[in-house]
Amino acid sequence: MTPRGWAVLTLGGLVLVLLVASIVLVPWSRPPAPRADQVAALGELPVDQVAHAREFRSALRPGAYGALVVGLLVALLLGLTPLGARLVELAGRPFGGHWTARAVLGGLAVVLLADLLTLPFAAWRQSVLTRYGLSTHGWSGWAVDLLKSYAVSAVIGAIALLGFYTVTRLAPRWWWAFGAAGAAGLVVLLSFVLPVLVEPVFNRFTPMEQGPLRTELMAMAARDGVPVRDVLVADASRRTKAVNAYVSGLGPTRRVVVYDTLLREATPAEVTSVVAHELGHAKDRDVWTGTLTGALGAALAVVALYLLGSWAPLLRLAGVDSVAEPRAFPLLIALVTVAGLVAAPAQALISRRVEARADAHALALTGDPATFEAMQRRLAGVNLADPDPPRWEYLWSASHPSTVERMAAARAYAREAGR
Ligand SMILES: [Zn+2]
Repeated sequence: MTPRGWAVLTLGGLVLVLLVASIVLVPWSRPPAPRADQVAALGELPVDQVAHAREFRSALRPGAYGALVVGLLVALLLGLTPLGARLVELAGRPFGGHWTARAVLGGLAVVLLADLLTLPFAAWRQSVLTRYGLSTHGWSGWAVDLLKSYAVSAVIGAIALLGFYTVTRLAPRWWWAFGAAGAAGLVVLLSFVLPVLVEPVFNRFTPMEQGPLRTELMAMAARDGVPVRDVLVADASRRTKAVNAYVSGLGPTRRVVVYDTLLREATPAEVTSVVAHELGHAKDRDVWTGTLTGALGAALAVVALYLLGSWAPLLRLAGVDSVAEPRAFPLLIALVTVAGLVAAPAQALISRRVEARADAHALALTGDPATFEAMQRRLAGVNLADPDPPRWEYLWSASHPSTVERMAAARAYAREAGR
């Protein structure tokens, strides 16, 4: 069988494994959150708070969709015309067009150009966040964060680009196989190292100070059978008023992180409710699931790009001879951008199901739906979330159930448990 035949077979196998993994690992049946309860919950929220949040969300929209459209157009323009290939050549020219210069500098130039062209929209977002009082770090802090994230992406991007184009040169017929394995490996590696190498670039993390709250949280984790070494507090207040918490990392790098803003804004019982949700993620191995499906998806993408990339009309459009050369990188970016947009609703749906399960875990672990509901109300209030967002936007991009859904889930739980 030819390498191409093996690639088709591998693609089929990866699609099958990804499908089975998503059927088995994603909690498709969600806990009840009746619409009647949602409507009732919405009716009980202060009218001006809901109006203010909706005004804020509409103010963000032009920037968000502008960035989406411009990002897509730039990717298509660079990838489906010879412009991108020319940009890669240009970046490699000071180094005599050496392939490493084209691969790394050319690749980074393409990404940077797209970033720069969508920069006005990022600035728009920052101006809205400032106007509504959510952002606290000012334009200089914003710029520093932006430069830091460019630097982090450049380092990770350079490693990935150099690795990828080394493989395409060493194994011109089988690069897709090594590339797929490498991409999957990189996803797993990043899951391990992001919390210890990248997150500290943006925030300082300190162990939660000793006291009744920490004791309560550690006791709850022990009761839940989730070994937690520590609860870390992130100094999120340096850039935002928003409150949040999350789990990240795998094995030795796993951590539960709460924003210092959450500790400041919420009652200890509400913080407990938030951490109970995060323990749900840890207990159900959601980071592992995300990493595994991400790794499979990355491998699948490499094989699909190899197969698509042998399609002559596409190569002609991009003005390249082979998808495996650095000059074809803009074409790869265009294909990945389109695929990302197509996959977004499915990713959002899976994320919402996983989040709903963590909510159910929090309710069962704390047995305190009233505090859970109060916490949801506070989250929406402080973060200026639309408690019941437009349906299309929800289906397209919502990573979490809406505030009214989460409140309704708490009410359904309370009825069920007789509390
Ligand atoms: Zn969550």
